Amino acid sequence: MRQKIGAFGITAFALALVFAVGWELGRTGNAVDPISDAKAAGGVVKSPTGPAPDRYVYYPGSEQLGTNEIRVIACGTGLPAARRSQAATCFLIETGNGDKFLFDLGTGSMANIASLMIPYQHLDKVFLSHLHTDHMGDLLGLWAGGWTSGRPNALRVWGPSGATPEMGTKYAMEHFLKFVNWDKVTREYKITPIPGQIETTEFDYRKANQVVYRENGVTIRSYPAIHAGDGPISYSLEYAGLKIFFSGDTVPNKWFVKYAKGADLAIHEAFQSAQQLVDFYNQPPQLAWRACCEFHTSPESFGKIMSTVKPRHAVAFHFFNEEGTRFGIYQGIRSTYSGPLSLATDMMVWNVTKEKITERMAVSVDAAWSVPGTARQARPEKGRPNPSTKYIESGRWVPGFKAQDPMLDKHMKKYKLEKLDWRPAMYKALKGK
Ligand SMILES: [Zn+2]
Ligand SMILES: [Zn+2]
Repeated sequence: MRQKIGAFGITAFALALVFAVGWELGRTGNAVDPISDAKAAGGVVKSPTGPAPDRYVYYPGSEQLGTNEIRVIACGTGLPAARRSQAATCFLIETGNGDKFLFDLGTGSMANIASLMIPYQHLDKVFLSHLHTDHMGDLLGLWAGGWTSGRPNALRVWGPSGATPEMGTKYAMEHFLKFVNWDKVTREYKITPIPGQIETTEFDYRKANQVVYRENGVTIRSYPAIHAGDGPISYSLEYAGLKIFFSGDTVPNKWFVKYAKGADLAIHEAFQSAQQLVDFYNQPPQLAWRACCEFHTSPESFGKIMSTVKPRHAVAFHFFNEEGTRFGIYQGIRSTYSGPLSLATDMMVWNVTKEKITERMAVSVDAAWSVPGTARQARPEKGRPNPSTKYIESGRWVPGFKAQDPMLDKHMKKYKLEKLDWRPAMYKALKGK
């Protein structure tokens, strides 16, 4: 049942319906057995009033991850064109030792990540498969959103080199910081500088099975991929004897087929079919053919890869997963692969242990706030030049400014902030206005 639900990626509403039906039928745990309950109660069937069984749903923050367990959450599974129901590529992997890793950070994915209410302190490790914006567009959101929401540390970004230095991750991150220079300089002054820094680790995209990260029992390796140009890579993550593969974007390639053999969870792209790209994505037939099959993997090829690699569970992503498309994708994959399969959509969750792999949908809040971590941001650094000039500062309108004094007095008192009160100096500077 779960398999089927996942394969068709139904919405939270439909989930609730299935969930209610499962509950009603008494198939979901030991709490409900309407027939024998009715007999015991002398023929009266009572509706359940206790906790609902949770086997179809993952509620973030409600479940302890086992020491030898991995949880994978799809925070983006779609395409470069933005859509509210599906962000671009992003997978969050949580390991039982308490570590968290973001594999790609596609446009729109930060809203899904934020709904998991993980302290930004722990969302500081990003592994990029390649530098297409649908795989790194929400670096902006994590970088600035985390900075204003209490992340005390710098961001750490791993990614491949390119055929030339300016096609590599290091160049991209250096120039990312140039692109956001105004944002960076103003926040460095007003908040604190460290969370605005990016520590980049660039590694050779040509090496297969090379270790790019090894800490606290987690090993991450990279493999070359074939997609659009030199640079793209795939990753594997090993923890507690479990192995997760993430293809990034690629056509079928020999490295994935060789190294992902027997993986516990094999996440590989399966692109929209050529026909779907023409029908729904406004692509001319010639481009549709190339997009589906010259620099991406078709559903049929995805199936062939999986029936060769034989993972414990296969996950297909990188297509808009909806009523009009998923059956075609499913049929394509099933023409070449009959093993365990998820057609990924945003907020799909897999828990992986030696014993079993479960697939569920995460149900999380839309209006999530950040959650405090254990470490606090450093105070603003002294001696940094104020990004505002005297000309602009002299434009403050004092009566409007003073209107907030009673509210600020209360705030200062409540948090014992008297020593930090900048108002006397400010009013002095504005004297005469
Ligand atoms: Zn790409
Ligand atoms: Zn892509």
